[in-house]
Amino acid sequence: MKYIIGNWKMKLAPTDEASLSRKVKKVPFDQGHVTVSLHPTFLSLQAVARALQGSSVYLGAQDCFYEDAGAYTGEISPAHLKNLGCEYVIVGHSERRRFAGETDEIINKKVHAVINEHMIPIVCVGETQEQRQADNKDHIVRRQVEHALHDVNVVGAQKLILAYEPVWAIGTSNAATPREAMYMHQVIYHTLLDLFPKSIVAENAFIIYGGSVDPDNIRDFLNEPAVDGVLVGGASTKFDEFSKMIAIANSL
Ligand code: PEP
Repeated sequence: MKYIIGNWKMKLAPTDEASLSRKVKKVPFDQGHVTVSLHPTFLSLQAVARALQGSSVYLGAQDCFYEDAGAYTGEISPAHLKNLGCEYVIVGHSERRRFAGETDEIINKKVHAVINEHMIPIVCVGETQEQRQADNKDHIVRRQVEHALHDVNVVGAQKLILAYEPVWAIGTSNAATPREAMYMHQVIYHTLLDLFPKSIVAENAFIIYGGSVDPDNIRDFLNEPAVDGVLVGGASTKFDEFSKMIAIANSL
């Protein structure tokens, strides 16, 4: 299975999100081979949910709060996301770590909350340029994975997606090389093996790459057996590029 996750960030107006989802819905692909999810802004979740009805494209959120209900002004309940039809939630994106001050502890609570609602967390980890230059990337990413998944119990068909997203590659047109991504995927894989039984890592956990993925480089990533898919930001907001990427994934 190859995951193609479209993170629209805050790049589109709600009317554009609804119309883009109507177009993506019509792109043909084999559901047994490719999983596509769209992550619009919260404002558009309802409209996109309606647009995707009856399609094989999944709905996802870009974030959520870690409590289902209560006095939490401005927050978004994971239970409400589930009721709206969300199956996936991005957690710990580097833009949230950077602009919303999310800590590893908050991210861990969110992962628990998403799993409690039987949704699939897409947990983002990745080092900054400075951390990479200081040769600290393995340690940073390992620690992020350990913290995010602290006390997480994976049972039954629950899935976990880990997205390796080097911060220096996001929105820069400077993607990691497939070789660099593979190396870090191994680091994540071995960290998972320290946290969960081997059978869970083999069956329930998926490791994807994100950072300036586009129609020209997606094939190189997806051709790597250890890369279970891609998290696409900017290019997922452009129908021509995103539909090309789905077609390429489908053809491999
Ligand atoms: C992202 O937002 O997760 C991302 C990978 O962005 P981009 O594809 O624009 O680098």
